[in-house]
Amino acid sequence: MSNADRNTGDKAGEALSNLLREERRFAPPPALAADANVKADAYERAEADRLGFWAEQARRLDWAVEPQETLDWSTPPFAKWFADGKLNVAYNCVDRHVEAGHGDRVAIHFEGEPGDTRTLTYADLKREVSKAANALTSLGVEAGDRVAIYLPMIPEAVISMLACARIGAPHSVVFGGFSADAVSSRVTDNDARIVITADGGYRRGKPSALKPAIDEALTSCPDVRNVLVVRRTGGDVAWTEGRDVWWHDLVDAQSEEHEPQPFDAEHPLFILYTSGTTGKPKGILHTSGGYLTQASYTHHAVFDLKPETDVYWCTADIGWVTGHSYITYGPLSNGATQVMYEGTPDTPHQGRWWEIVAKYGVTILYTAPTAIRTCMKWGDDIPAKFDLSSLRILGSVGEPINPEAWIWYREHIGAGKTPIVDTWWQTETGAIMISPLPGVTSTKPGSAQRALPGISAKVVDDTATEVGNGGGGYLVLDRPWPSMLRTIWGDDQRFEDTYWSRFEGLYFAGDGAKKDDDGDIWLLGRVDDVMLVSGHNISTTEVESALVSHPKVAESAVVGASDATTGQAIVAFVILRGSASESAELVAELREHVGKVLGPIAKPKRILPVAELPKTRSGKIMRRLLRDVAENRTLGDVTTLTDSSVMDLISSQLPSAP
Ligand code: ATP
Ligand code: MG
Repeated sequence: MSNADRNTGDKAGEALSNLLREERRFAPPPALAADANVKADAYERAEADRLGFWAEQARRLDWAVEPQETLDWSTPPFAKWFADGKLNVAYNCVDRHVEAGHGDRVAIHFEGEPGDTRTLTYADLKREVSKAANALTSLGVEAGDRVAIYLPMIPEAVISMLACARIGAPHSVVFGGFSADAVSSRVTDNDARIVITADGGYRRGKPSALKPAIDEALTSCPDVRNVLVVRRTGGDVAWTEGRDVWWHDLVDAQSEEHEPQPFDAEHPLFILYTSGTTGKPKGILHTSGGYLTQASYTHHAVFDLKPETDVYWCTADIGWVTGHSYITYGPLSNGATQVMYEGTPDTPHQGRWWEIVAKYGVTILYTAPTAIRTCMKWGDDIPAKFDLSSLRILGSVGEPINPEAWIWYREHIGAGKTPIVDTWWQTETGAIMISPLPGVTSTKPGSAQRALPGISAKVVDDTATEVGNGGGGYLVLDRPWPSMLRTIWGDDQRFEDTYWSRFEGLYFAGDGAKKDDDGDIWLLGRVDDVMLVSGHNISTTEVESALVSHPKVAESAVVGASDATTGQAIVAFVILRGSASESAELVAELREHVGKVLGPIAKPKRILPVAELPKTRSGKIMRRLLRDVAENRTLGDVTTLTDSSVMDLISSQLPSAP
């Protein structure tokens, strides 16, 4: 992305500063600010002594051997954090809370989609994790062996992750919604020998089988010795004698005692594949001490968690990194009480989430823009039927949040009062990097704003020069951070090429960003997605936000399709709100609207109302597939799509390209 036009202040560049003209500001509620876990001084302390700051945060954890060394950056980009320390990650997430007298505190309020519930205290969790650790050991799993986990959102998912961590066996969680192919390619890539799965889970009001995908996947993974199967739905399953083992037979028979062994801080904790939004997923490796330090600190700082009183709910699936860091490791290391929900938000009715918030008195909610826009589409009257007054902090992650969606979230879910923390991070970063602090930051709708204390993020141009306020370019991280990825599993070269070769000594995040006049950061979407129209860089995010600011549009995805005259032409796919219907007049009205908000250069050449957009299982729009459609190409990698029939639907709805 060349930023000449962003910086020169030419007409088009100015016309595109829509987001930067967003002038709404929301100060933290005074009571929250007064009692916040992290106050403004944290920025200065961390700035003055970054490594000292992280060494202090590492002491949030219980170490078997306290680290003396904070960072070893002698062979960049391969970092070692707290390398001479030893700890057990599961002990930190479970046992130490029991030992501190909090065994009776609820760790997980589980809500099944059919309405069944389970409550696990920290003492229960310790017993379950210990039994599962003993069970894995009985299957011959040793420290360093990889274990694949393919489960629905049930407590066994978290128990399995912690059992692996407890015995030092890196887990590789694969989304329960992925196909057999996606499973087998991941199992093969990291050579897992044990798979933990379930007969199925509940989705959209009915049982949805999981085991058949494992059976199919394993026909091409001959090295998998055992499949441990949780019974969730009670449906019929095919059974391979000698390989398949029921969880309730094996785990329930184990001893409730298990002595957690300490591992090196740099011992591998998990491998997780990225969402695949921009191409074939990458197997990201995270290790133990630095990862847990940052997951724990950021959860404490960004969500202001008060473990005695808060009820926290992150709606992510454990199959993506948000589920790892902000369901399993961050909250549990902090002794949080959290809600875990198995199913879809509209089963059996579109108010299910809000019913759950009211039922458990959820105080902190963390979800994704895609979910917020879906709720906007369903209508304001739905959350209005429920008592959401317990909520005090709302979080967003996964994509840039359109300012209108942000405002809707605050007004209709947060009663116009709760701070919203828009958290930017990636599978690779392991934990939150850029976000407001709820007790400190005056928030701006649509902006993630500022790197957290101890983190350094910059926006640079093509020559790696930092842009000034008001400039735009590439988001980079110029200082190592504790929860940074250590490599791409089995492929150090791809690790160096993907993240460290674009700019010398800087981590290239792959996202475009702008800085406003206050120096706050606005994420603009993927660098790959930035459009070049008649010589002007235009961000997909900005055009999408302009479309979503029209009252008839709920959601939109914008791509640049090659165009003989303008280089690229803007093609917009839109999902209309509840009652709006498609017409030539509406399309013309939307084009005019974008022209008015952003300037004529940003008017989409084509606007196509569609019923659905292609999304990853983690809820992100896959623009690259829409670009394939708009340019009449064969579709790229679709293995991480939620629903691959969406692409057929869109292709069939498309009038052939002009
Ligand atoms: P792949 O790397 O395989 O293409 P992915 O990048 O979608 O997939 P994730 O690691 O799940 O995989 O997502 C990280 C990306 O999500 C970020 O690089 C960014 O583009 C986007 N993102 C996450 N949170 C935010 C946010 N708060 N604002 C803007 N973008 C965000
Ligand atoms: Mg990515």
